[in-house]
Amino acid sequence: MTISPPTNPPPTKPDWLTDGWNHVWLPYAQMQTAPLPAPAIRTEGSRITLADGRVLIDGIASWWTACHGYNHPHIRAAVAQQLETMPHIMFGGLAHEPAYRLATRLAALMPAGLERVFFTDSGSVAVEVALKIALQSRLNQGETTRTKFLAFHGGYHGDTFATMAVCDPEEGMHNLFADMLTNHIIAPLPTNPASIAAFDAIAARHARELAGIIVEPLVQGAGGMRFHPPETLRHLRATADHYGLTLIFDEIFTGFGRTGTLFAYQQSGVTPDIITLSKALTGGTSPLAATIVSTTLFNHFLAPDPAKALMHGPTFMANPLGCAAANASLDLFERENRLAQATALGAQMQTELAPLRTAPHVIDVRTLGAIGVVQLKSIENPAALRTELMRHNVWIRPFRDIIYLTPALTMSPDELSRLTAAIGAVVKG
Ligand SMILES: *Cc1c(COP(=O)(O)O)cnc(C)c1O
Repeated sequence: MTISPPTNPPPTKPDWLTDGWNHVWLPYAQMQTAPLPAPAIRTEGSRITLADGRVLIDGIASWWTACHGYNHPHIRAAVAQQLETMPHIMFGGLAHEPAYRLATRLAALMPAGLERVFFTDSGSVAVEVALKIALQSRLNQGETTRTKFLAFHGGYHGDTFATMAVCDPEEGMHNLFADMLTNHIIAPLPTNPASIAAFDAIAARHARELAGIIVEPLVQGAGGMRFHPPETLRHLRATADHYGLTLIFDEIFTGFGRTGTLFAYQQSGVTPDIITLSKALTGGTSPLAATIVSTTLFNHFLAPDPAKALMHGPTFMANPLGCAAANASLDLFERENRLAQATALGAQMQTELAPLRTAPHVIDVRTLGAIGVVQLKSIENPAALRTELMRHNVWIRPFRDIIYLTPALTMSPDELSRLTAAIGAVVKG
C-alpha cells in the first residue's frame, strides 16, 4: 500500500534530540531517510508520554518486553531496593541472591531435565551461548565433525555473527556477509505434507554434519509473526531424537505469556534440550537473558580437564538489577492472572481485527495468545505508516508486510480498542 510521506519532525524538539541526532545511530534504519524519532519522556502502564505532551498507547510493549506494562510498581520497588544495596557485582567467583534465586525459579518453570541456567545480557548472546554449548558438548565427547545447525526459513535469532548465520537467508545480511558467515542448513518448517517431506530429506542428507536444530516455537516473530502448529515442534523433536541432535527452542519472543501459555513449549508437550529467554524476562525493565540447558548437556562439560569448561562470561552477566527485576516479574506472573489476560486480549483482537480481512490490501488477519497480526500485500514505507499511526496517538511499528500488536498483558480493553481502531483506520485509508 502507498502512504503519504512522513510529516516529521514532531512539533516540539528538545535540544538533546536535535543535538544528539548528529551522533546517534538508529537500529535497522537508513539514516539518510530515517524520520526523526519521537522524543519520549515518561512511561506508565501502556502509555508513552512524548516531549510535546502527547500520550501514545504502546501496542508492541517496547519491542515485546514490557509484559506488565511500563513502571510496574512491584518491579520498580524491587529494582530500587537492589540499587540501594548492590547495583552490580561480577559473577565470576562471587555469588548474589537475585541471580541464584532467579536460576532456581526459572529451572522450576522449565520442563523436567532443564535445570542449568547461564545468564547473559542480550537475546543474541543467549543464542550464541546455546549454539556454543551444543557444539562444545560434542567436542568434549570427542565428536568433531558435527558442526552445523538446522535452522528455518523465516527464522530470527539475533544480529551477531553466529546468530545471523541461523536467521532466514533471504534477509539481506546473509548475502552481504556471505563469506563471513558459517554455512548452516536452512530448511522449510515442516508444517504440511510437502514441507515435511522437504524437511525430512534435508535432515537425512545432512544428518552426519548436524549438531542441532534451532527454532522459535509456535511463532517466528521478527520473520513476520508467522505461526506454526505444535505438531511441527513434535516433528522436530522426533527428528532430533532420530539423528541425535540438540534441539534448541528460542523462546526470546514467545516466553512469558505471549502465546497464551507461560512458555510456548508447553503447548507442544515437547521438551527441548536448550531454551533461550530474554525480551520480557525482566518485564522490560533492563537487559537480561538466560540460556537454560538440560542436565544431560551440562554433564558433558564436567571433567577434571579445565579445557572442557564452558568458556563464556559476559562482564555484566547476571546483573543484580536485572535479576531483581526478573524475580519481581515472576512474582507478578504468580500473583496475577497474566495468562487469562493474554487470552482475553487475544479474543478481543480476534473480534476487532477480523473485519479487516475484507479491507483492501489485507491478505490475512491472525491472532495467537496476545499477538494480533494484520498482514498486507506489501508495505511500501513502514516508517511512513508508523508516522501515520502516531497521528492516532498509538505506538505501533509495522515491519515487512505486517501491522501487528503485542500489547502489555495488563492492557485495558479500552486501550486495546484504540489500537485496533487505529489499525483499522490506516488499513481502510
Ligand atoms: C529479539 C530476539 C532475539 C535477539 O535478542 P536481542 O536481545 O535483540 O539480541 C533472538 N531471538 C528471538 C526469537 C528474538 O525475538
